Amino acid sequence: MEGGWSWGWGKRTRRLSRLRQVAMVVGLVGHLGESYDEWVHQPIVSNEGPRFFESDFWEFLTLTVWWAIPTIWLPVVCWCISMSIRMGHTLSEIGLLFSNVWLYQCIVFILLKKKKKYNLYRGNTIHYLIHGFHHKHPMDGLRLVFPPAATAILCFPFWNLVRIFATPSTTPAIFGGSLFGYVMYDITHYYLHHGKPSNDVSKHLKRYHLNHHFCIQDKGFGVTSSMWDKVFGTLPPQKTTQDCK
Ligand SMILES: [Zn+2]
Ligand SMILES: [Zn+2]
Repeated sequence: MEGGWSWGWGKRTRRLSRLRQVAMVVGLVGHLGESYDEWVHQPIVSNEGPRFFESDFWEFLTLTVWWAIPTIWLPVVCWCISMSIRMGHTLSEIGLLFSNVWLYQCIVFILLKKKKKYNLYRGNTIHYLIHGFHHKHPMDGLRLVFPPAATAILCFPFWNLVRIFATPSTTPAIFGGSLFGYVMYDITHYYLHHGKPSNDVSKHLKRYHLNHHFCIQDKGFGVTSSMWDKVFGTLPPQKTTQDCK
């Protein structure tokens, strides 16, 4: 009986220490308090970033090659379209429903623009995981796109949210449109950091985004276009977008 108790206790201690290990490395940024904001906006330009978690499992979930995004999510987008077609929608109707590809950018934009006071432990940690890490290590190619495991989790509440406003047959197409918007956003973002733009549009977008990282970090949040910056009044000054390297 005593042996059973001590075995149980040992198991619980091991589990607690494992949890502490998982939270330890990422949790450090929370202790920066008010100096977090200044610290996170001083980029380290290297292709490698620090380890997030001591646990190999959690660490693995934070690393994503860019091509995993279209490989995993485009089939889901196709499945969504086919589902709405099977429920009686024509291709032109699907095109109309699909036109909400901008919705994902709008949601991200609102989240990024909502600048919080980063003086709380939890606030710093959440910001670091969602956006701050990318500002600290903008060229870390394995942590540039959103981890599929996290996207998969977020898909459930988003699907249910769409279902509230849409009919059963339009829900898949609307959801698929937003998912497609996300895929475009993520791979464009990767390209702007690691690709070599050859035409004027992509050169402009790259300059626009790098200005957001290295010049004015509270302006120019747009990635695939500056449309939402115009809508929300965060367009950087023209001079900056031309001069800042
Ligand atoms: Zn970026
Ligand atoms: Zn940013």
